[in-house]
Amino acid sequence: MNLDDNVTAVKGIGDKTAESFQKLGIEKIRDLISYFPRDYKNYSEPVPIRETSPGDRVAVFCQIVKNIAVIKGRRYQITTTVVSDGNDAMEVVWFNQPYLRYSLHKGEKLVFYGRVETRGSKKVMQMPETYGILQYQKMLKTMQPIYSLRKGISNNLIRKAIMECRDLMHMVPDPISEDVRDKYHLMTRSEMLLALHFPKSEDELRRAAGRAAFDEFLRFLLQVKAMRDENVQMGTDIKVTDEAITKLRGFVAGLPFKLTAGQGNALKEIFRDMQSGHAMNRLVQGDVGSGKTIVAASALLSVILSGYQGALMAPTEVLAEQHYQDLSKMLKPYKVKVCLLTGAMTAKEKRLVYADLASGACDLVIGTHAIIQDKTVFKNLGLVVTDEQHRFGVRQREKLASKGNHPHTLIMSATPIPRTLAIMLYADLDISVIKELPKGRKKILNSVIDVSFRPAAYQFIREQVKQKHQAYVVCPMVEESEAIDAENVIDYSENLQQELGRDIKVEYLHGKMKDADKVAILNQFSQGQIDVLVSTTVVEVGINNPNATVMMIENAERYGLAQLHQLRGRVGRGQAQSYCMFMNVKKSKQSVERLKVLEESNDGFFIAEQDLKLRGPGEFFGVRQSGDLNFKYADIYTNADMLKAAQEVSLTMSADTEGLTVTI
Ligand code: ADP
Ligand code: MG
Repeated sequence: MNLDDNVTAVKGIGDKTAESFQKLGIEKIRDLISYFPRDYKNYSEPVPIRETSPGDRVAVFCQIVKNIAVIKGRRYQITTTVVSDGNDAMEVVWFNQPYLRYSLHKGEKLVFYGRVETRGSKKVMQMPETYGILQYQKMLKTMQPIYSLRKGISNNLIRKAIMECRDLMHMVPDPISEDVRDKYHLMTRSEMLLALHFPKSEDELRRAAGRAAFDEFLRFLLQVKAMRDENVQMGTDIKVTDEAITKLRGFVAGLPFKLTAGQGNALKEIFRDMQSGHAMNRLVQGDVGSGKTIVAASALLSVILSGYQGALMAPTEVLAEQHYQDLSKMLKPYKVKVCLLTGAMTAKEKRLVYADLASGACDLVIGTHAIIQDKTVFKNLGLVVTDEQHRFGVRQREKLASKGNHPHTLIMSATPIPRTLAIMLYADLDISVIKELPKGRKKILNSVIDVSFRPAAYQFIREQVKQKHQAYVVCPMVEESEAIDAENVIDYSENLQQELGRDIKVEYLHGKMKDADKVAILNQFSQGQIDVLVSTTVVEVGINNPNATVMMIENAERYGLAQLHQLRGRVGRGQAQSYCMFMNVKKSKQSVERLKVLEESNDGFFIAEQDLKLRGPGEFFGVRQSGDLNFKYADIYTNADMLKAAQEVSLTMSADTEGLTVTI
């Protein structure tokens, strides 16, 4: 067996499984062993039912005392039974696993591992895993890796496959020299692989996660270095004309508001770049609500008025649709032909847009990443803007360049990161910072509340709606499964609808809905036909409804501070006073302290810095950040020391991205 062999070389993996693996991005053995667990489970000693409290993930050793029943629910098949530890009984339920009725039997004694919830006065364990007691005792001593799964692939299957590759892991070479490893206390790559897949202790795991972060940062920073070197040479003929800039002044003067100093400054820098004869690579960094869209729209208009085409890429279809509607309206007086291009469109619709882009009939295309896919040919692309989007990689830039004469690129980001980190991560970009929010905005009033305050919170929402305002409620996450989360959003919104009464219209939004349905709901919400929008974190990025004044976030303790700040940024976008309620369900001392930061401050940069300080070392692969700093394993806050180490090392390495020596 060899790193470059196909996974079918692994014992137990046939063609069919290999196909499923491919959907996870795993083709070769090299990919398989670099497929790291997303989390680890620390199995705990079984406890009596009596000692469990709601929300806990625990193990209980119980006998099944009732026949297994399968009930057809409204949306799911529910398998249920009752178990007892001799003193107390508890219900257990599974969604959509009717086959369990054949593998579990009344009278059996098993360990049930899962989360305990209460329903009325009864305790219920949802979706438990079951083990024989001997099997469980063996697992108690080890941390069990949990991999991200896909249909057709179970955790066990991945475990077994990786187990087969264990010997091979010992032989993986390390591109980082021993001197460097010693200096930064890095384990070898081979040690890292073994520790990540077969951890022996938390401490070992932490060091392995550090090495994984180091490798990911180093790869990234070398790319950044390559792109920076390339920028220096990248000339272009695309220039914004003086005439276009004069017309643009008229456009800005016609806006219903005055630009902030930061917005004006960003535009000045953008125009200077786009008249310089060099391809622009600029990042506009501004907190949520600072008004980045209008900056993007102005830059695009100036390019279009100079005779070129523009493209605006959004991270989601929903956001693309919103931009499409806003910009079409804004640019109408200038007779700009705007087209929408998204994955949800039919092949025929897309073909029409492609044709218009090739002929030049379309001036501005707005959509998701699909825009720069191979099929798209532009007549004369002048500027590409990405909103809240991953930055361009080397390959994407090459692709863009191949579509014309080195178009200018502009990236809009709301990820607030401390300056010390920005210097490293954005080394290939020029940066404009929009420091202030538009005038007249009132500070969002924040409060961290606990569950006893929920009725009062609902009452507050009722009053705000009476004053013709609107509210968002971000629903708790229940399970790691999107389907069950969706279910939960629906249930929550039905309950909330009852709670608030008929006069108030409640609707829901979740990730499993069709894009067209999401867009329809958001449109109704923008137009005021929906009063309260219950959703998963779908609303996180970029949605703009200035009339919404309340944001209530359930289970706030489960999110990273930066993400909570993004969520909160959906309100406080208009003239009225806005409010954000963080529901702290868990109430641990640490979560109280973290959420307090949000209560105190509305400043994204301050929050990012506090986040850096307060992150405990307990999170191996960190809480995911949104936007362009979405590393797979590393986290710029938790692993800030590794970022610094990788930065120093990257200076001593060549920026040759072709032969990047840091992939496994
Ligand atoms: P973000 O920076 O989060 O993308 P948006 O561009 O969506 O923010 O702007 C938020 C809201 O602020 C929009 O409703 C927009 O019309 C408004 N806005 C933008 N610039 C100004 C300004 N200078 N003065 C007042 N309102 C503004
Ligand atoms: Mg935005």
